[in-house]
Amino acid sequence: MKIKDMFNQKKAVISFEIFPPNQNHSIDTIYETVHELVKFEPDFVSVTYGAGGTTRGKTVEIASLIKNKYKIESLAHLTGVGATKKEIDTIIEEYQKNNIENILSLRGDFPKDASEEFKKSGEFHYASDLTSYLKSKGDFSVAGAYYPETHFENNDLMDLFNLKKKVDAGTDFLISQIFFDNEILYRFKEKTDKLGINIPFSAGILPVTNAKQIKRITSLCGCSIPPKFQRILDKYEDKPEALTEAGVAYAIEQIIDLISWGIDGIHLYTMNKVDTTKKIMDNISHIRND
Ligand code: FAD
Repeated sequence: MKIKDMFNQKKAVISFEIFPPNQNHSIDTIYETVHELVKFEPDFVSVTYGAGGTTRGKTVEIASLIKNKYKIESLAHLTGVGATKKEIDTIIEEYQKNNIENILSLRGDFPKDASEEFKKSGEFHYASDLTSYLKSKGDFSVAGAYYPETHFENNDLMDLFNLKKKVDAGTDFLISQIFFDNEILYRFKEKTDKLGINIPFSAGILPVTNAKQIKRITSLCGCSIPPKFQRILDKYEDKPEALTEAGVAYAIEQIIDLISWGIDGIHLYTMNKVDTTKKIMDNISHIRND
């Protein structure tokens, strides 16, 4: 099924994001996690793609497992940075062979020490280039990323216009980077409405369970921490159980507010954690169906 069609139903579409084990770990380590996560009946599960294609085979295998064994739709991430059309063609063929019909089309991040020459290399300079290429190559439902607090390489106006270009290139629905203040997303949506962007928006939510990790993530992606959430991080940063409890409660509060506001979807960054995902899903079991 095309994920874009799921958004035609009235309820919010609930999805999970998982990542494949890194190069030092066997793919077997994810099987149990997938087996447990699918029990919470997400509408779809997305599988990340390591920078520069480092997890390529694993991304395809896990997305295929979710779709073909568990019969839950999968969304395979794909990045265009540094890639040639020939390389992307090979991946597209793998997706088609595995019955994967939904792709999250991304530019990807440049490696830290990337030269200007590398940045200009490859045949896909922006996600929109990859999106229009994917659309020309097969009957895929294609998602794109959006940044309620602006992508870190740009100012907000340029980033909004670039988002519009990405949507015009054929994006069917959008998934956000993490954010911790729903008001920021609501203000962002007012702007995208004015630009005539009227495809479904899913909100990316991360249940925070580790203070160090969230400091690293926010410094990389430039998302802000509101005072209310900062107080929680300060108080519980050295108390993992308490921080997990508070982080899960904060995520649930964000989700309930977003769903009652009328967001099209909730995309849970599970970090491959079954326990926290369970706590959240248990707390929205009625809300998600209303
Ligand atoms: P783009 O949409 O191409 O935007 C990148 C920058 O270029 C922005 O500043 C934009 O304003 C600008 N821009 C866009 N189009 C134009 C244009 N035509 N002219 C001039 N400027 C333009 N990374 C991974 O490596 N693997 C993953 O699996 C992965 N999954 C992700 C999932 C989600 C939901 C999100 C939000 C991000 C994910 N990322 C992933 C990170 C992503 O690759 C980075 O955020 C990257 O820096 C931008 O990717 P993009 O697809 O948003 O790029």
